[in-house]
Order: sequence, then C-alpha cells, then structure tokens
Amino acid sequence: MAGNSEPLSPRAKLAVTAGKAAAAVSKAAGRGSGSVIGGKVALRLDPDLLSRLAHHLDVILVSATNGKTTTTRLIAEALRAAGPVVSNALGANMPAGITSALAGGSDARYGVIEVDEKYLAGVARDTEPKAIALLNLSRDQLDRAAETRMLAEKWREGLAGTKATVIANADDPLIVWAASSSPNVVWVAAGQEWKDDAWSCPACGGVLQRPGDDWVCGECGFRRPVPSWALNGEYVLDPHGAAWPIHLQLPGRANKANAATSAAVAATFGVPPQVALERMYQVQAVAGRYDVVTFQERELRLLLAKNPAGWLETFSLIDPPPTPVILSVNARGADGTDTSWLWDVDYTRLAGHPICVIGDRKLDLAVRLEVAGLDFRVCADADEAVRISPPGRIEVIANYTAFQDLRRRVGN
Ligand SMILES: [Zn+2]
Repeated sequence: MAGNSEPLSPRAKLAVTAGKAAAAVSKAAGRGSGSVIGGKVALRLDPDLLSRLAHHLDVILVSATNGKTTTTRLIAEALRAAGPVVSNALGANMPAGITSALAGGSDARYGVIEVDEKYLAGVARDTEPKAIALLNLSRDQLDRAAETRMLAEKWREGLAGTKATVIANADDPLIVWAASSSPNVVWVAAGQEWKDDAWSCPACGGVLQRPGDDWVCGECGFRRPVPSWALNGEYVLDPHGAAWPIHLQLPGRANKANAATSAAVAATFGVPPQVALERMYQVQAVAGRYDVVTFQERELRLLLAKNPAGWLETFSLIDPPPTPVILSVNARGADGTDTSWLWDVDYTRLAGHPICVIGDRKLDLAVRLEVAGLDFRVCADADEAVRISPPGRIEVIANYTAFQDLRRRVGN
C-alpha cells in the first residue's frame, strides 16, 4: 500500500505522540534508547497502532534464529535504491519495538522489520507484509530440538494462505517445512552449516538423508525444493542463471548467504541484483557486531554468537591460527541462565589459537575447553586477556550480555 496517504486517526496520532514522550522520558532517565517503552505506551493507547502504521508501507519481515539483524540491514540498504525505508535497525524486534520504529518513519515507502521468531505469526497478521524472509531455525540457548520444531509448526500455521511472497532457505528443512504452507515461495539455496537440528524430518519424524547439498526424507518423501536463487561461493545466482559478485565488508559465509537472500527480496520489489549487492557493501557493522576497535594497541574484532549454530558460523569466519581468540560467556537473563549449551558447541575448531576465557561463566567455559583438550588461559577481564595477547588482530567472541559488557569496555 505504498503511497497510501490516508491519515492516521486522532487516536493513533495521540498514541504515537504519547509513545514518543514516554521514550524521551525513559531515555532521559538513562534507560537506553527508550524505543521499547515508547512502543509499549503507544500500543496500550491504541492496540491496532502497529497495523495502522504498517498500512502505509510495503512491509518486509525478516525472521530466523541467526542473522536476522544483519539481513534486515542488508535488505534496508538494498531497498533504499527504490525509495525511503524505515527499519528497526537497532534490533528491538518484538511488537513494542517494531511499533516504535515504524512510528518514526512517516515518510517511508518500505518498512523492513526484524521480528523475533516467537512473534512472527502475530506480526505478519498485523502488518500484512508484501514479503517475508526466513533464513534458518535452530536451537537457541535452552531451546531443544522439540521446541524448535514447534516454532516451525507455529510459523507454518501462521503463514498458511499469506498474501506475502515468502523468501525462504531451501537448505534448512525446518524452514522449508514452515514456509511450504505459503502459496508463493521463492526458494534460496543459502546453505546450512549447523545440521544438528536437521537430521529428522519435520513432516513425519523420519530420518533425513543428506546426499551432498540435497536432503530428502526416506519415509515420506518430503524433500529440498528446487531453489531459484543460490549462494555459490562469492556469487549470487539469480533465477536466470546469471552470477552476481558479492562484495561485503561483513565477514564470513553466513553473511554471504544473508546477502543472497537479501538480493532475492530486493528483486521482488524490482531492485536488480547488481544494484542491491552494490548497496549492501555500505554495511560495515551491525549494532557493533563485526566492529574492529583499537584497544591497548591491539585490533579487536567483536563477534556476537548467541547459540550453538552462531558459534559454529563464527568459528568459520575468524582469522586462522596463530590469531589469538578471547571467548566471553555470561548467563544472565537475556543469555539463558543455564550454560549446558556449551556442550553443543565443537570448540575443537579453535585448536591452534591462543585462547583466553573471560565473562561471568568463564569457569564453565574452562571446563568445556579442558574436556575438548584445548590450551587456554582464564583471565580476570578483557583488559588482562588483551594484555597477555600478542600485538595485532584479536578475535573476540561473546554471547549476548557478554558482548554488551565488552562494547562498554572497549567500544568507541
Ligand atoms: Zn518425512
């Protein structure tokens, strides 16, 4: 509904104003950007505000266990070639944060919105998106395979009959299961490094056979759909078979996959892959992730890894040994308070790197590394870990609140 200039009702306007006032008060009180509290106040005054705000926009939703913040940024950059964009770029991805972000973009044509996995079906109902990008689903923190399967089922029910074009990863069986209730799906071969949550068939529970890049259920025949877009090394292949080079400042295979999906999304709005991919080069860091900062005369690259699949993707993008690695793990509310997920991560991938461990749960991590047979040192804090590392690049990998602690200490 781009270009629809039907004005907001007085009640909706009041809700937006009250939300902004609450956000300003919260910000003045030192509680972050205030966007979430602002959104909560606004939604309390006008529960339909999100759908009213979205009504004026072509909405694109992005959800996944990993990579949704980055992909939202990449899609937003690409679509700016076609018109003004509003986005929840700071990652406030539940309804209050989304409402607050959209309230700030009254002149936008496109709304590019990251959505927490648990809210996708509801936000899709409220915002009537034109496109929905689904990247991957895997266990997060304490979630286990059964919960991840239930989430896929919720998506499948919520997206059945959607009018949106769903752009979905053909290489993730749970994503395929979730998306295949939608009438209009564009499949992207975006790859899947973490397969531990994808050995059983989402449709029938049978064992998936995985010859090469393909996958098929031996019991019911549920199988990988034929993709029309693909990530192929350093290139994106479009539906006509043309190969477009990916140039990103962001590191790693996972971000190339995010770029491939983003190019497919942009194409559904008429932005050609070449234009979309050129614009994606602008994205340097996303909410501090991948940022390289100078601290104690070393170059620290800050990497966020929140769950086992995220750790695995991160190990694959760091510089090879002997580049030192600092690992930081907390177990506060936003991280999940149980650290048993550490046992799902294959830390032997770090063999050969000098390793320091820090964070609230450095001893849990130390036990895990000891069992993995790795050499490491336990340090008091980031300062000590950096001090005992040789000069040059250091890769610093942290989970959620540990990452925030780190940015406060070493960030610009
Ligand atoms: Zn099956």
